[in-house]
Parts: sequence; structure tokens; C-alpha cells
Amino acid sequence: MKCSMRNQSLIDRSRAAVWHPCTQMKQHERLPIIPISHGQGVWLYDFEGKRYLDAISSWWVNLFGHANPRINAALRAQLEQLEHVILAGFTHAPVIELSERLSQLAPGNLGHCFYASDGASAIEIALKMSFHFWRNSGQSQKTEFISLVNAYHGETLGALSVTDVALFKDTYAPLLRQSHQVPSPDWRLAAPGESAEDYALRCAELLAQYLEQHHATTAALIVEPLVQCAGGMAMHHPAYLRRAREICDQFQVHLIADEIAVGFGRTGTLFACEQADIAPDFLCLSKGLTGGYLPLSAVLTHDRIYQAFYHDETARGFLHSHSYTGNPLACRAALATLDIFEQDQVIAANRSKAARFTAMMQPLREHPRVRHFRQTGMIWAFDVADAAADFSQHFYQAALQRGLLLRPIGSTVYFMPPYVLDEENMAELIQGSLVCLDACR
Ligand SMILES: *Cc1c(COP(=O)(O)O)cnc(C)c1O
Repeated sequence: MKCSMRNQSLIDRSRAAVWHPCTQMKQHERLPIIPISHGQGVWLYDFEGKRYLDAISSWWVNLFGHANPRINAALRAQLEQLEHVILAGFTHAPVIELSERLSQLAPGNLGHCFYASDGASAIEIALKMSFHFWRNSGQSQKTEFISLVNAYHGETLGALSVTDVALFKDTYAPLLRQSHQVPSPDWRLAAPGESAEDYALRCAELLAQYLEQHHATTAALIVEPLVQCAGGMAMHHPAYLRRAREICDQFQVHLIADEIAVGFGRTGTLFACEQADIAPDFLCLSKGLTGGYLPLSAVLTHDRIYQAFYHDETARGFLHSHSYTGNPLACRAALATLDIFEQDQVIAANRSKAARFTAMMQPLREHPRVRHFRQTGMIWAFDVADAAADFSQHFYQAALQRGLLLRPIGSTVYFMPPYVLDEENMAELIQGSLVCLDACR
């Protein structure tokens, strides 16, 4: 078959020429790479007419489906206007509008937006800004960062240094700056009989104890609010964030909220911090920011930070530069994404959608191998008992055979679908997952 030959040729060429991310390439001797021809809504189509339900939103970036007509139209119009311009000394409407709207939507008074192109770079920027703020404020001994056990904040060297996932980090340990990890409020770790909230507060007290000793040298605490996603969809009570905010204020330590994965409605509110009623000093955004269309990230901060850089002396400014900063096309995709949130009242619609899906998942919840079933907003996860070391690969392949794109993290299966998923898609996802659970050790 002609299209099949086309498919095989793409697989071979990709294996030869493309070094795929997060992949031991040798495994592709057995695991097929899947060339995708086009996407539509929640579906990805290959060249042989087979379709895959994108239940992980293509690595958590897609919110409103592939080939979304409204985002497509906005991008087409922007293409005719301006594709890119240097953002040092120049500006343009999309970046101004996006900055204003993000500031308005974000918690607190985060009125200054700095841009980059990916999540890890946003983390680098927040770390550099925090450090530089203290230096400009005459507290240059504040150079250390703390994060949670099992944290994930990206994989460039600075971001990796506050990440705590051994598989990604250990190899590069000699290249990294030390950071300190405080206990994670992940409710699965609560003592028997201890509530998620009590456990969260107990962890917050351990943070306070650490800072009592080390506040003089600590610049910032970085946290992924409500759900530690890459850390295995570990969920915690918002009480942790409320106490962490108070503790950071008490000890003069910045709070960096990494909402790269949890932002833009993932946890049920536009930003996860809202559920704790707090505002961070730095808010890092990416992934869903452009609806999954183009690489873009932003770091929002408040005026007190900004003013510490505002000076006659050049070197006191934040001189971080990146060629594609504030790319107009990416900003336009982000604006179109925010329009959809507004026009379709997505946050409210997702609330009933999520409740409905959770109810539909009862059979999964009751499956004998399912442990710690959990949900926050549009994220569902559970741990699988008696999982073999290569469970996630087996499950991934079994799911692909059933037309589902699912990538378990270790023995944790999760769903993080585009918000345009409907009940029929959901039923298919649940049914398929049940079959895969029975088929995979
Ligand atoms: C994905 C992710 C990052 C890194 O973003 P990239 O765009 O992949 O560099 C950082 N923090 C969190 C919480 C993430 O999920």
C-alpha cells in the first residue's frame, strides 16, 4: 500500500535524522515512532488512517484541540501583519495586549511580564531575577533555592538544579548547583488517619523550620501549586500554599509559582494559586499559554521586584536576552486562547465537565489494581498495583493499539486531555484504560 510505504519511510528517516526527546533511541528498534499526518480536535491521525485520542494534550500543551479554527484564524491574520520583530527597543500590539491581559487575570499585582520560549527558560529567568533582586537590594548572600521533594521544573541546567527527579538529574549532578528539597505535601504520604490538609500543614511547618535556619542565604522557594505533574501527578491541599506564602513573607524569601503545567485551567481555576488565595512573587507560565500552538513562556512579577532593577546603572537591569522574546505569532496564539476562555466561559464549563467525567470513572476507581485515584480540575490520575518495571511502556503500547495516546509516569496512569473532550471520547478513554489495565503487568 502506498500510504503504508510512506509511513515506513517517515519512521526510518525520523529514526535516522531526528534525535527524539526523553527517549532512549535504541528502544525504537522495538517501539514504533508514529508519524502524524494531521490533527483535528482531540484526535491525531497517522498516514494509514488510524487515529489516536490525544489524552495527554500532546505533553500537556493543547487546550482546545488540534487545528482549532479560532486560533488558526488569529494566526493567519497575524501572519499578514507581522511575524516577528526584535523586542529590545521595539514593541508590538500582541505582546502589549497579552501582557496586560495576563497581568489582569493573574492573582495579585503581577504587572510586569517577561517572555521566553519554553518552560525551562521561564524557570531560569525567575531564578535569575530572584537572585538579582536580592543582589540589587544589598542582600547578595541570598543565593540558594529550595524546592519540593520530587519537584520537576524543567531540564536546562538551572531548572534541573531545582528539579528532583533522579532519572533526569543524577547523570548531570556534577554540572548542577546544589539546591535544597523540603518535604512534598503529596497527600499520599499522609500518616494513617491524617487528613490531606493536616499533612500539608505538617509539611509547611518543616519548611518553616528549614527557613528559620537558612533564610539568610535563601533567595526563593519554587513550588508547582496543587499538582506536581511530572513528579507523578502528586496532589496536595491548598493549605500548603497558604502557609508557604506566610512563611516566605516571614523569612523574606521569594515564592516562585511554577504554573507551567497547572496554569490555564488545568486545576479547575485559571491559575492554581487562586485556590489558595495567594499571589506568588514570580508566576511562570508556558505549555497551555498558546493553546498548544507555539513555544512561548512568561514570567510575571510585581512592582517591588521590578523597581529594584529600575536604575541609571545598566548592569542593575535584567539583561537576560533571548532572540525570539515576545514573538508576535506566539503572543497572538495566546491571545486567541484567552479569547476562547472568555467567550466560552471555559472555567465554569470545565467544572461540570470534570464532575461528569469523575463520576464516569467509577469502574476505573473500583478496579482491583487501582490505588490512590485522584482528580484536580482537568487532571485525573491513579497508581497501579503490581506494576512491572516496564509497566509504563507496555501500557503506552497497549493504549496505542486501542487508539489512545497515554504515557503513564512509572506506575501512575493519568489523563490530561484537551478541554474539548466530549463524553463519548471520555467513555472510550475509560473503556480502553480498563482493557489496558487487565492486559499490562
Ligand atoms: C513542562 C514543565 C516545565 C518545563 O517546560 P518546558 O517547556 O518543557 O521546558 C517546567 N515546569 C513544569 C511544572 C513543567 O510541567
